[in-house]
Amino acid sequence: MSASEDSKGVANTGPFDFDKLDKDFKFEISREPGGENIMYCFACGTCAGICPVGDKNEDFDPRRLIRLAILGFREEVLSSPAIWLCSTCYSCTVRCPQDVKITALMAAIQTISSRDGYAHDSYRMFIDMAMKHKFILEVSEFENSKRAKLGCPEITADPAETVKLIEHTKALDIIKRKPKSEGAKK
Ligand code: SF4
Ligand code: SF4
Repeated sequence: MSASEDSKGVANTGPFDFDKLDKDFKFEISREPGGENIMYCFACGTCAGICPVGDKNEDFDPRRLIRLAILGFREEVLSSPAIWLCSTCYSCTVRCPQDVKITALMAAIQTISSRDGYAHDSYRMFIDMAMKHKFILEVSEFENSKRAKLGCPEITADPAETVKLIEHTKALDIIKRKPKSEGAKK
């Protein structure tokens, strides 16, 4: 299988050898929280048509990613930088006629990708930053004064909680992993 890139940001998938496809990949995704409904997809293209990221960047096509995942292109999907482009806007999720819950599905694929050592640099930087500053989203006096005007309670950050949360997710271990498979693209 060629490792070259096609116009959709996923390693060129054809011509391909059926024996090399991972037929269990769709089941692996469906066992991951968020990925449960992947097999409901009937490739109608509604998600691809509505996706604002795909509209601006042809490397990202949710229908194509889902199709490749169902067919079993495990390494190609997991190593693709395109899977990290989803902006979690939920435009696709609310329109999908098959309730595939695409936004959550993208997160499920990113989770498997990270576990396999393909975590995107932006994810690594995010974890580093959160550990360094003990904040995931800093809430300052400014935000709290706005909240007070709206009658919302004050938010106080507990750095120990942030660190505990990150440690609980095993993110520190995950960001150190490297892809095991040959031909990895990172
Ligand atoms: S909108 Fe839903 S059913 Fe249609 S291609 Fe996207 S995920 Fe599949
Ligand atoms: S949630 Fe992600 S895949 Fe869905 S429309 Fe928004 S950017 Fe595209």
